[in-house]
Amino acid sequence: MAIAYISHRDCLLHDTADGHPECARRITVIEDRFIATGLSDLLRHFDAPSVADNQLLRVHTQGHLDALASLAPGTGYVRVDPDTIICADSLTAARRAAGAVIAGVDLVISGEMEAAFCGVRPPGHHAESNRAMGFCLYNNIAVGAAHALAAHDLRRVAIIDFDVHHGNGTEEIFKDDDRVLFCSTYEHPFFPFTTALKNSANRVNVTLDASAKSEEFRAAVTDHWLPALQNFQPEMVFVSAGFDAHRDDDMSNVSLTDADFQWVSEQIVAVAADSAAGRIVSVLEGGYELNSLARCVETHVRVLMGVH
Ligand SMILES: [Zn+2]
Repeated sequence: MAIAYISHRDCLLHDTADGHPECARRITVIEDRFIATGLSDLLRHFDAPSVADNQLLRVHTQGHLDALASLAPGTGYVRVDPDTIICADSLTAARRAAGAVIAGVDLVISGEMEAAFCGVRPPGHHAESNRAMGFCLYNNIAVGAAHALAAHDLRRVAIIDFDVHHGNGTEEIFKDDDRVLFCSTYEHPFFPFTTALKNSANRVNVTLDASAKSEEFRAAVTDHWLPALQNFQPEMVFVSAGFDAHRDDDMSNVSLTDADFQWVSEQIVAVAADSAAGRIVSVLEGGYELNSLARCVETHVRVLMGVH
């Protein structure tokens, strides 16, 4: 399958200060692994465009855009919240991150590419319509899903979020939109400590205990996500691909393995094949232990490609 890898050098310019887990090396270790394993030669590489204001404003308020623009420093760092740091180039990076998902949607819906993986930062799924938080400035995946609905007239899209943290921003943005099915697993109680909304026809939150391993995660997917997705019949599948539930990742307590990320990727490919003509746009969210991150992203992309 022809798979797009979409990123931009500007994503490396988002400097979160020494020691911050959400660092530029997250992208370079992924790309180095793609090269070392030969996967890079099998991908079509695209530079992400900068997202336009009107594309951000489908999911964010003008006040949010203005607030971030006014906070961005000329030099040094500014804290948006205790975890979220921006520098002079952060919004440049963030606009490429959101723009990558727009490009992925356009490439996949046009049929030029069968699926896309956006290797971008800062991540996005904690960003709400009017609030940056948890390393996230703009909600990249929400920007892409809204683009598929508004610019390409899709009627139903699914967002599948296997990051170990709840995608509170994605949930908030689409909470009243029946065209979007949001499926999430996340450790609870845990950051972002928001109270998830009750499950509904277009919302499937499944919490995982801190002790959760493969068995609990796979049961959540099999028993909750897959029936909802089967019923919803999405025309396109978006993935908030976070790898911080890995047992080697200190960011969480949940202990998934490489095999679990391969397995869930296979389930997602099957869902997309069933109702969405295989159309998948997957977007990097978390994942902070660099070795497991690089391995699991490689596996995830190979599964999208059908060459694992
Ligand atoms: Zn996370």
